[in-house]
Amino acid sequence: MLIIKKAGALAAVLNDRRGQGYSIGFVPTMGALHPGHRSLIEAARLPNQFIAASIFVNPAQFNDPADFEKYPVTIEKDIEMLEYAGCDLLFLPAVADIYPDGWKNDQHYDLGFLETVFEGPFRPGHFQGVCQVMERLLRMVAPDHLYMGQKDYQQCMVVSRLLELMESSCVLHTCPTLREKDGLAMSSRNMRLSPADRPAATAIFEALSLIRAKLQPGELATLLAEAKEILTRNGFRIDYLNIADARSLAPVEYWDGKQSLVALAAAFMHEVRLIDNMLINPVPQPNASLAVI
Ligand code: AMP
Repeated sequence: MLIIKKAGALAAVLNDRRGQGYSIGFVPTMGALHPGHRSLIEAARLPNQFIAASIFVNPAQFNDPADFEKYPVTIEKDIEMLEYAGCDLLFLPAVADIYPDGWKNDQHYDLGFLETVFEGPFRPGHFQGVCQVMERLLRMVAPDHLYMGQKDYQQCMVVSRLLELMESSCVLHTCPTLREKDGLAMSSRNMRLSPADRPAATAIFEALSLIRAKLQPGELATLLAEAKEILTRNGFRIDYLNIADARSLAPVEYWDGKQSLVALAAAFMHEVRLIDNMLINPVPQPNASLAVI
């Protein structure tokens, strides 16, 4: 696996591969890799002749500086995992390579309604920061196919919108969420859970599973209250747990029995904030291959 730190060297390699007619798959990450990340590399393998991953902890998308400081760094283990998974190139830029003029949030992306719900109000500026880094990475890598995780459902919708704004022909593939045996969604943040908190963290999966299992047409408030109770009983402080239209993310209070739904949650276990979601019924996505988990 090639490890490249500078955009110029990256462009030289990718232009060469493109010249050979290779399709390029791209997996952007912030490192501290786990099997969920590896599954994205595996998804990229079949349709592409060349797979590039990036590891870059993007300061522009952390609204809480302490969260940025504490973001785990396990670079040697990450390189091993990427090599083992069959990644061809790792792009490992420094902050100054991505943001030569600094990373002030002075650029605005029109994300419309998407930015006003769920993660939006709880993490002001987060999705603008995601777009800033993704636009830069996408212009540097210019992939044919982009692989991201359904674990960050709203982020996938934001990036899909960014691709539209960029008038990019890159195809976004939204890949299923990989989970631990007890259902906890794999996440780089899980390693910050204390051994005492770790078993209780599976309550997010239990709450989402309950919603999926008990969903009936009609009012959803009682079902949501029951699901929230699972979280609070297990020591979570809830930012949100809600059901939304799977295509627009508009919250749904009354289900007509037909609309495609997604349940989304974000909650703190002590100082660790976890997010997860579950598609309740199949969603045919125009621009992305969303699998039902
Ligand atoms: P991150 O390093 O957290 O920015 O994540 C990089 C990519 O991996 C994003 O597209 C995430 O949605 C995806 N990802 C994170 N956790 C999982 C998981 N458990 N299963 C599948 N993909 C994941």
